[in-house]
Amino acid sequence: MKKISDGRARLPHAILLYGNSGIGKYDFARQLAQSLLCLSPASNGEPCGTCSSCGWYLQDNHPDFRLLSPEQDTDDEQDAGTAKKSPRKTQISVAQVRELGGFLELSSHQSDGLRIVLIHPAEALNAASANGLLKMLEEPPAGVVFILVSHQINRLLPTIISRCQKIDMPFPEREVALSWLKQQGQENAEQLLDYAGGAPLNVVRNVDQNATAENAALFLQGGRLDPFLAASKSASQGMEIALDALQKWIYDLLLSSLTGQVRYYNQHATALQAMAKSVDLSLLLDFQRQLNEARRNANHPLNNELQLETIFLTYTQLFMKKAG
Ligand SMILES: [Zn+2]
Repeated sequence: MKKISDGRARLPHAILLYGNSGIGKYDFARQLAQSLLCLSPASNGEPCGTCSSCGWYLQDNHPDFRLLSPEQDTDDEQDAGTAKKSPRKTQISVAQVRELGGFLELSSHQSDGLRIVLIHPAEALNAASANGLLKMLEEPPAGVVFILVSHQINRLLPTIISRCQKIDMPFPEREVALSWLKQQGQENAEQLLDYAGGAPLNVVRNVDQNATAENAALFLQGGRLDPFLAASKSASQGMEIALDALQKWIYDLLLSSLTGQVRYYNQHATALQAMAKSVDLSLLLDFQRQLNEARRNANHPLNNELQLETIFLTYTQLFMKKAG
């Protein structure tokens, strides 16, 4: 029989792990959940990996664990008879949150054990599902720990944030990140880590080297870029990735025109410095704001390609300033 140890008894009802994407928050949250469910964790809190609870957890069928993420949503759109591939889900639906209701009413399968709800990423909650979750956080059932993971804490309801114990997750140290990337067999680890803004998991998950090279080749065209062609190429990468690539490029243009340095596209430093000379700085700053705005709305299923056309058209207009 398991007793909740003192440390566990003092646990908050809800924990919010937040910080940059790609630094390992989700893996940390998974490990934390396993450790809270483990029947004989080590003294440093690590799960044993061998008890029955760890066994269930590692096979993704622990009865006291629920994961809420957009990909877990199983409403049956595939059966609607359309041959079209359904788009990747970006939201956690209110139906997913409602299903939690039954789970919360049960007691743990283990005597005195905890039940864990992991929500990833929390910004994928829409207005309805966020409100549903809020009601649960306001009257937390005994023995349940909610773990929320967020890359964009500013997109969460303040009332949800205030119900959670916030934990600001740090970037890994550069040396640690580089040695980990090299272990993963990544060549050009330094360059890739720069591009990923110091977040090593983004190197492995998101940075498609071919896409990065293609994007740079587009952006390098500056005022001669064809917005329609660029939009159609970029849209195929997905809105988040397309906007992220352009945001980094604009950041480098800005940094280059102010300090002569670049941060993300180191291999194009010389070209960026040359381009920066023909850029109108106030237009560049406006454009950066426009991109930030577009990025905040990137999960909305608007017409992405149309939006990218407008963005690239504005991009070409940055380079109107006469040299000298
Ligand atoms: Zn265990």
